[in-house]
Amino acid sequence: MTEPLVSRMRTFGTTIFAEMSALAVQTGAINLGQGFPDTDGPAAMLDRAVQAIGAGANQYPPGPGVLELRQAVSEHRAAHYGLAYDPVGEIMVTVGATEAVAASVLALCEPGDEVIAFEPYYDSYAASIALAQARLVAVTLRPVDGRFTFDPDELRAAVTPRTRAILVNSPHNPTGTVFTRAELTVIAELCQEHGLIAITDEVYEHLTFDGVGHVPMATLPGMRERTVMISSAGKTFSVTGWKTGWVCAPPALVTAVQTVKQFLTFTAGAPWQLAVAYGLRHEMEWVAALGAGLQDKRDRLMEGLSAAGFSVLRPAGTYFVQTDIRPLGFSDGLELARRLPELAGVVAIPTQVFYDHPERGRHFVRFAFCKKDEVIDEAVTRLKRLSS
Ligand SMILES: *Cc1c(COP(=O)(O)O)cnc(C)c1O
Repeated sequence: MTEPLVSRMRTFGTTIFAEMSALAVQTGAINLGQGFPDTDGPAAMLDRAVQAIGAGANQYPPGPGVLELRQAVSEHRAAHYGLAYDPVGEIMVTVGATEAVAASVLALCEPGDEVIAFEPYYDSYAASIALAQARLVAVTLRPVDGRFTFDPDELRAAVTPRTRAILVNSPHNPTGTVFTRAELTVIAELCQEHGLIAITDEVYEHLTFDGVGHVPMATLPGMRERTVMISSAGKTFSVTGWKTGWVCAPPALVTAVQTVKQFLTFTAGAPWQLAVAYGLRHEMEWVAALGAGLQDKRDRLMEGLSAAGFSVLRPAGTYFVQTDIRPLGFSDGLELARRLPELAGVVAIPTQVFYDHPERGRHFVRFAFCKKDEVIDEAVTRLKRLSS
Protein backbone atom coordinates (compact mmCIF):
# COMPACT_ATOMS: atom_id res chain seq x y z
CA MET A 1 0.00 0.00 0.00
CA THR A 2 1.20 3.52 -0.71
CA GLU A 3 1.64 5.89 2.23
CA PRO A 4 -1.89 6.26 3.62
CA LEU A 5 -1.22 9.48 5.57
CA VAL A 6 -2.11 12.74 3.80
CA SER A 7 0.99 14.51 2.57
CA ARG A 8 0.51 17.61 4.73
CA MET A 9 0.86 15.47 7.88
CA ARG A 10 3.84 13.37 6.80
CA THR A 11 6.43 15.49 8.53
CA PHE A 12 4.59 14.93 11.82
CA GLY A 13 5.79 11.41 12.65
CA THR A 14 6.20 10.27 16.23
CA THR A 15 6.66 13.25 18.50
CA ILE A 16 9.92 13.77 20.32
CA PHE A 17 8.02 13.20 23.59
CA ALA A 18 7.05 9.68 22.55
CA GLU A 19 10.63 8.94 21.50
CA MET A 20 12.20 10.34 24.66
CA SER A 21 9.61 8.88 27.07
CA ALA A 22 10.08 5.46 25.46
CA LEU A 23 13.82 5.88 25.92
CA ALA A 24 13.26 6.73 29.60
CA VAL A 25 11.21 3.58 30.12
CA GLN A 26 13.70 1.42 28.19
CA THR A 27 16.74 2.67 30.10
CA GLY A 28 15.22 3.42 33.52
CA ALA A 29 16.34 7.04 33.15
CA ILE A 30 14.71 9.88 35.10
CA ASN A 31 12.27 11.62 32.78
CA LEU A 32 12.69 15.40 32.88
CA GLY A 33 11.46 15.47 29.29
CA GLN A 34 7.70 15.54 29.19
CA GLY A 35 6.03 18.36 31.10
CA PHE A 36 3.50 16.78 33.39
CA PRO A 37 3.54 17.08 37.19
CA ASP A 38 4.16 14.00 39.33
CA THR A 39 1.77 15.13 42.08
CA ASP A 40 -2.02 15.48 41.87
CA GLY A 41 -4.30 18.49 41.86
CA PRO A 42 -6.25 19.78 44.90
CA ALA A 43 -7.95 16.89 46.72
CA ALA A 44 -11.34 18.60 47.10
CA MET A 45 -11.41 19.24 43.36
CA LEU A 46 -10.58 15.61 42.59
CA ASP A 47 -13.43 14.60 44.93
CA ARG A 48 -15.78 16.85 42.99
CA ALA A 49 -15.12 14.87 39.83
CA VAL A 50 -15.89 11.62 41.67
CA GLN A 51 -19.04 13.15 43.15
CA ALA A 52 -20.12 14.42 39.74
CA ILE A 53 -19.94 10.91 38.33
CA GLY A 54 -21.89 9.53 41.31
CA ALA A 55 -24.49 12.24 40.88
CA GLY A 56 -25.12 11.34 37.25
CA ALA A 57 -23.09 13.88 35.23
CA ASN A 58 -22.38 11.15 32.70
CA GLN A 59 -24.18 12.18 29.51
CA TYR A 60 -23.36 14.79 26.87
CA PRO A 61 -23.14 18.26 28.38
CA PRO A 62 -24.18 21.21 26.17
CA GLY A 63 -21.86 21.85 23.19
CA PRO A 64 -20.38 25.08 24.60
CA GLY A 65 -19.81 23.36 27.95
CA VAL A 66 -21.49 23.05 31.33
CA LEU A 67 -22.95 26.46 32.23
CA GLU A 68 -21.52 26.26 35.76
CA LEU A 69 -17.99 26.10 34.37
CA ARG A 70 -18.62 28.92 31.91
CA GLN A 71 -19.90 31.01 34.81
CA ALA A 72 -16.86 30.15 36.92
CA VAL A 73 -14.55 31.07 34.03
CA SER A 74 -16.37 34.39 33.63
CA GLU A 75 -15.98 35.16 37.36
CA HIS A 76 -12.30 34.16 37.23
CA ARG A 77 -11.57 36.43 34.22
CA ALA A 78 -13.24 39.35 35.99
CA ALA A 79 -11.50 38.75 39.33
CA HIS A 80 -7.99 38.18 37.96
CA TYR A 81 -7.86 40.38 34.89
CA GLY A 82 -10.80 42.78 35.04
CA LEU A 83 -12.10 41.22 31.81
CA ALA A 84 -15.85 40.76 31.29
CA TYR A 85 -16.89 37.70 29.26
CA ASP A 86 -20.51 36.60 29.02
CA PRO A 87 -20.85 32.92 30.00
CA VAL A 88 -23.46 32.65 27.25
CA GLY A 89 -21.91 33.40 23.88
CA GLU A 90 -18.40 34.50 24.85
CA ILE A 91 -17.05 31.41 26.61
CA MET A 92 -16.82 27.82 25.35
CA VAL A 93 -15.28 24.71 26.88
CA THR A 94 -12.89 22.55 24.85
CA VAL A 95 -11.03 19.25 25.16
CA GLY A 96 -7.96 20.96 26.54
CA ALA A 97 -6.08 23.90 25.09
CA THR A 98 -4.90 21.63 22.29
CA GLU A 99 -8.39 21.31 20.85
CA ALA A 100 -8.99 25.02 21.40
CA VAL A 101 -5.94 25.91 19.31
CA ALA A 102 -6.83 23.38 16.59
CA ALA A 103 -10.46 24.48 16.38
CA SER A 104 -9.44 28.16 16.32
CA VAL A 105 -6.96 27.69 13.49
CA LEU A 106 -9.36 25.47 11.51
CA ALA A 107 -12.20 27.94 12.04
CA LEU A 108 -10.32 31.12 11.23
CA CYS A 109 -7.76 30.27 8.53
CA GLU A 110 -8.41 29.69 4.85
CA PRO A 111 -5.99 27.45 2.94
CA GLY A 112 -2.91 29.54 2.14
CA ASP A 113 -3.41 31.96 5.03
CA GLU A 114 -0.37 32.59 7.17
CA VAL A 115 -0.18 32.25 10.94
CA ILE A 116 2.76 33.76 12.76
CA ALA A 117 4.09 31.84 15.76
CA PHE A 118 7.18 32.36 17.86
CA GLU A 119 9.76 29.59 17.60
CA PRO A 120 10.61 27.44 19.45
CA TYR A 121 6.85 26.70 19.47
CA TYR A 122 4.54 24.16 21.11
CA ASP A 123 4.43 21.21 18.74
CA SER A 124 0.68 21.07 18.13
CA TYR A 125 0.65 24.52 16.49
CA ALA A 126 2.42 23.41 13.33
CA ALA A 127 0.17 20.35 13.01
CA SER A 128 -3.04 22.36 13.47
CA ILE A 129 -1.87 24.93 10.93
CA ALA A 130 -0.98 22.15 8.48
CA LEU A 131 -4.41 20.54 8.94
CA ALA A 132 -5.98 23.88 8.03
CA GLN A 133 -3.70 24.00 4.95
CA ALA A 134 -2.47 27.31 6.25
CA ARG A 135 1.20 28.26 6.56
CA LEU A 136 3.17 28.74 9.77
CA VAL A 137 5.56 31.69 9.67
CA ALA A 138 8.06 31.38 12.51
CA VAL A 139 9.57 34.39 14.26
CA THR A 140 12.54 33.34 16.37
CA LEU A 141 12.91 33.98 20.08
CA ARG A 142 16.57 34.45 20.99
CA PRO A 143 18.27 34.90 24.36
CA VAL A 144 18.98 38.54 25.15
CA ASP A 145 20.42 39.13 28.63
CA GLY A 146 19.48 35.61 29.68
CA ARG A 147 15.86 35.77 28.52
CA PHE A 148 14.31 34.67 25.23
CA THR A 149 12.67 37.49 23.29
CA PHE A 150 11.89 38.56 19.71
CA ASP A 151 13.14 41.35 17.51
CA PRO A 152 10.17 43.67 16.81
CA ASP A 153 11.49 44.42 13.30
CA GLU A 154 11.66 40.72 12.52
CA LEU A 155 8.06 40.33 13.68
CA ARG A 156 6.91 43.31 11.57
CA ALA A 157 8.72 41.89 8.53
CA ALA A 158 6.91 38.56 8.97
CA VAL A 159 3.49 40.14 8.35
CA THR A 160 2.28 39.82 4.76
CA PRO A 161 -1.09 40.38 3.04
CA ARG A 162 -1.79 36.66 3.69
CA THR A 163 -1.25 36.89 7.46
CA ARG A 164 -4.43 35.98 9.30
CA ALA A 165 -3.40 35.51 12.91
CA ILE A 166 -0.57 35.66 15.41
CA LEU A 167 -0.39 32.75 17.82
CA VAL A 168 0.94 34.04 21.11
CA ASN A 169 1.96 31.67 23.88
CA SER A 170 2.83 33.48 27.11
CA PRO A 171 4.07 32.30 29.56
CA HIS A 172 5.98 30.55 26.80
CA ASN A 173 6.72 26.86 26.50
CA PRO A 174 9.53 25.85 25.98
CA THR A 175 11.55 29.01 26.81
CA GLY A 176 9.85 30.11 30.06
CA THR A 177 9.58 33.69 28.80
CA VAL A 178 6.65 35.73 30.09
CA PHE A 179 6.02 38.48 27.55
CA THR A 180 6.16 41.98 29.01
CA ARG A 181 3.48 44.56 28.37
CA ALA A 182 5.92 46.24 25.96
CA GLU A 183 6.39 43.03 23.95
CA LEU A 184 2.64 42.39 23.89
CA THR A 185 2.08 45.97 22.76
CA VAL A 186 4.29 45.42 19.70
CA ILE A 187 2.18 42.39 18.79
CA ALA A 188 -1.10 44.18 19.58
CA GLU A 189 -0.23 47.16 17.40
CA LEU A 190 0.58 44.88 14.47
CA CYS A 191 -2.71 43.03 14.93
CA GLN A 192 -4.65 46.26 14.83
CA GLU A 193 -2.70 47.79 11.98
CA HIS A 194 -3.18 44.71 9.77
CA GLY A 195 -6.55 43.41 11.00
CA LEU A 196 -5.08 40.23 12.49
CA ILE A 197 -6.54 37.94 15.11
CA ALA A 198 -4.49 37.08 18.20
CA ILE A 199 -4.87 33.47 19.28
CA THR A 200 -3.39 33.34 22.76
CA ASP A 201 -2.32 30.15 24.49
CA GLU A 202 -2.27 31.10 28.18
CA VAL A 203 -2.15 27.64 29.78
CA TYR A 204 0.64 28.74 32.17
CA GLU A 205 -1.15 31.97 33.16
CA HIS A 206 -0.83 31.22 36.89
CA LEU A 207 2.62 29.65 36.85
CA THR A 208 4.89 32.70 36.91
CA PHE A 209 7.82 33.47 39.22
CA ASP A 210 9.71 36.26 40.97
CA GLY A 211 6.59 38.44 41.10
CA VAL A 212 6.39 38.60 37.29
CA GLY A 213 2.69 38.82 36.44
CA HIS A 214 0.96 37.37 33.41
CA VAL A 215 -0.60 40.02 31.19
CA PRO A 216 -3.42 38.65 28.99
CA MET A 217 -3.34 40.08 25.47
CA ALA A 218 -7.08 40.79 25.71
CA THR A 219 -6.41 43.39 28.42
CA LEU A 220 -4.43 45.59 26.01
CA PRO A 221 -6.30 48.49 24.40
CA GLY A 222 -8.26 47.39 21.33
CA MET A 223 -7.38 43.72 21.72
CA ARG A 224 -10.34 42.09 23.47
CA GLU A 225 -12.36 42.33 20.25
CA ARG A 226 -9.73 40.49 18.20
CA THR A 227 -8.34 37.97 20.68
CA VAL A 228 -9.18 34.30 21.05
CA MET A 229 -8.02 33.69 24.63
CA ILE A 230 -7.24 30.06 25.49
CA SER A 231 -6.74 28.54 28.94
CA SER A 232 -6.71 25.07 30.44
CA ALA A 233 -7.18 23.35 33.77
CA GLY A 234 -4.35 20.92 33.01
CA LYS A 235 -1.39 23.06 34.04
CA THR A 236 -3.30 25.37 36.41
CA PHE A 237 -4.57 22.55 38.64
CA SER A 238 -2.04 19.77 37.83
CA VAL A 239 -4.68 17.66 36.08
CA THR A 240 -3.17 17.34 32.61
CA GLY A 241 -5.12 14.10 32.07
CA TRP A 242 -8.48 15.86 32.41
CA LYS A 243 -8.11 17.65 29.07
CA THR A 244 -10.43 20.51 30.00
CA GLY A 245 -9.78 23.90 28.44
CA TRP A 246 -11.76 26.96 27.42
CA VAL A 247 -11.91 29.80 24.94
CA CYS A 248 -12.95 33.37 25.78
CA ALA A 249 -13.62 35.71 22.86
CA PRO A 250 -16.26 38.02 21.40
CA PRO A 251 -19.42 36.26 20.14
CA ALA A 252 -18.49 36.12 16.43
CA LEU A 253 -15.15 34.48 17.18
CA VAL A 254 -16.61 32.02 19.71
CA THR A 255 -19.35 31.09 17.25
CA ALA A 256 -16.74 30.41 14.56
CA VAL A 257 -14.57 28.27 16.84
CA GLN A 258 -17.64 26.47 18.23
CA THR A 259 -18.79 25.65 14.69
CA VAL A 260 -15.60 23.66 14.13
CA LYS A 261 -15.30 22.28 17.65
CA GLN A 262 -18.76 20.73 17.53
CA PHE A 263 -17.65 18.44 14.71
CA LEU A 264 -14.27 17.58 16.22
CA THR A 265 -15.57 16.38 19.60
CA PHE A 266 -19.03 17.96 19.97
CA THR A 267 -18.46 18.61 23.66
CA ALA A 268 -15.94 17.97 26.46
CA GLY A 269 -16.20 15.51 29.39
CA ALA A 270 -18.89 16.45 31.91
CA PRO A 271 -17.49 15.41 35.35
CA TRP A 272 -14.24 17.31 34.80
CA GLN A 273 -16.11 20.45 33.88
CA LEU A 274 -18.03 20.49 37.17
CA ALA A 275 -14.85 19.80 39.12
CA VAL A 276 -12.91 22.55 37.32
CA ALA A 277 -15.74 25.01 38.05
CA TYR A 278 -15.23 24.15 41.71
CA GLY A 279 -11.47 24.59 41.33
CA LEU A 280 -11.75 28.05 39.78
CA ARG A 281 -14.06 29.15 42.59
CA HIS A 282 -12.35 27.54 45.59
CA GLU A 283 -8.82 26.44 44.82
CA MET A 284 -6.99 29.51 43.56
CA GLU A 285 -4.96 29.60 46.79
CA TRP A 286 -3.84 26.09 46.02
CA VAL A 287 -2.80 27.33 42.57
CA ALA A 288 -0.81 30.21 44.09
CA ALA A 289 0.97 27.71 46.33
CA LEU A 290 1.67 25.52 43.29
CA GLY A 291 3.34 28.50 41.59
CA ALA A 292 5.44 29.29 44.67
CA GLY A 293 6.47 25.64 44.95
CA LEU A 294 7.41 25.55 41.28
CA GLN A 295 9.60 28.61 41.73
CA ASP A 296 11.55 26.71 44.42
CA LYS A 297 11.82 23.71 42.11
CA ARG A 298 13.04 25.95 39.30
CA ASP A 299 15.77 27.31 41.57
CA ARG A 300 16.66 23.82 42.74
CA LEU A 301 17.03 22.50 39.20
CA MET A 302 18.78 25.62 37.88
CA GLU A 303 21.36 25.44 40.63
CA GLY A 304 21.94 21.75 39.98
CA LEU A 305 22.21 22.19 36.22
CA SER A 306 24.71 25.02 36.64
CA ALA A 307 26.75 22.87 39.01
CA ALA A 308 26.64 20.09 36.41
CA GLY A 309 28.20 22.44 33.86
CA PHE A 310 25.24 23.64 31.80
CA SER A 311 24.71 27.30 31.01
CA VAL A 312 21.20 27.91 32.36
CA LEU A 313 18.60 30.47 31.25
CA ARG A 314 16.22 31.60 34.00
CA PRO A 315 12.53 31.09 33.12
CA ALA A 316 9.97 33.58 34.51
CA GLY A 317 7.16 31.05 34.17
CA THR A 318 6.08 27.54 33.03
CA TYR A 319 7.57 24.15 33.99
CA PHE A 320 10.72 24.39 31.89
CA VAL A 321 14.28 25.56 31.99
CA GLN A 322 16.45 25.98 28.90
CA THR A 323 20.11 25.10 29.02
CA ASP A 324 22.94 25.83 26.62
CA ILE A 325 25.00 22.64 26.33
CA ARG A 326 28.11 24.14 24.76
CA PRO A 327 30.02 24.71 28.04
CA LEU A 328 29.92 20.91 28.47
CA GLY A 329 31.58 20.43 25.10
CA PHE A 330 28.44 19.38 23.21
CA SER A 331 26.98 21.22 20.23
CA ASP A 332 23.92 19.24 19.13
CA GLY A 333 21.06 18.93 21.61
CA LEU A 334 19.31 16.15 19.68
CA GLU A 335 22.45 14.05 19.72
CA LEU A 336 22.99 14.75 23.42
CA ALA A 337 19.35 14.02 24.33
CA ARG A 338 19.55 10.64 22.61
CA ARG A 339 22.76 9.78 24.50
CA LEU A 340 21.82 11.36 27.84
CA PRO A 341 20.13 8.25 29.30
CA GLU A 342 23.32 6.25 28.70
CA LEU A 343 25.68 9.08 29.74
CA ALA A 344 23.76 10.24 32.81
CA GLY A 345 20.51 8.32 33.30
CA VAL A 346 18.34 11.34 32.55
CA VAL A 347 15.94 12.20 29.74
CA ALA A 348 15.54 15.77 28.42
CA ILE A 349 14.05 17.33 25.30
CA PRO A 350 16.19 18.80 22.50
CA THR A 351 14.78 22.27 21.90
CA GLN A 352 15.68 22.26 18.18
CA VAL A 353 12.63 20.09 17.40
CA PHE A 354 10.41 23.10 18.16
CA TYR A 355 11.92 25.26 15.43
CA ASP A 356 11.34 25.75 11.71
CA HIS A 357 15.02 26.76 11.74
CA PRO A 358 16.47 23.95 13.91
CA GLU A 359 20.00 25.31 13.60
CA ARG A 360 18.87 28.27 15.73
CA GLY A 361 18.06 25.97 18.62
CA ARG A 362 20.69 23.29 18.11
CA HIS A 363 22.59 23.96 21.34
CA PHE A 364 19.58 24.17 23.67
CA VAL A 365 18.12 21.34 25.75
CA ARG A 366 14.93 21.65 27.82
CA PHE A 367 14.51 20.19 31.30
CA ALA A 368 11.16 20.05 33.18
CA PHE A 369 11.07 20.87 36.90
CA CYS A 370 7.43 20.00 37.68
CA LYS A 371 8.74 16.97 39.55
CA LYS A 372 9.20 15.92 43.18
CA ASP A 373 12.27 17.45 44.87
CA GLU A 374 13.89 14.05 45.33
CA VAL A 375 13.48 13.35 41.61
CA ILE A 376 15.13 16.67 40.73
CA ASP A 377 17.95 16.01 43.21
CA GLU A 378 18.63 12.54 41.87
CA ALA A 379 18.62 13.84 38.28
CA VAL A 380 21.13 16.53 39.22
CA THR A 381 23.40 14.02 40.98
CA ARG A 382 23.38 11.93 37.83
CA LEU A 383 23.93 14.88 35.48
CA LYS A 384 27.07 15.86 37.39
CA ARG A 385 28.64 12.74 35.82
CA LEU A 386 28.73 14.64 32.53
CA SER A 387 31.52 16.93 33.64
CA SER A 388 33.42 14.53 35.91
C1 LIG B 1 0.53 21.58 27.89
C2 LIG B 1 0.30 22.64 26.85
C3 LIG B 1 -0.87 22.67 26.09
C4 LIG B 1 -1.89 21.56 26.15
O1 LIG B 1 -2.90 21.82 27.00
P1 LIG B 1 -4.10 20.76 27.14
O2 LIG B 1 -5.08 21.49 27.95
O3 LIG B 1 -3.54 19.54 27.82
O4 LIG B 1 -4.58 20.44 25.77
C5 LIG B 1 -1.05 23.71 25.19
N1 LIG B 1 -0.13 24.66 25.04
C6 LIG B 1 1.02 24.67 25.74
C7 LIG B 1 2.01 25.75 25.52
C8 LIG B 1 1.28 23.65 26.66
O5 LIG B 1 2.44 23.62 27.31
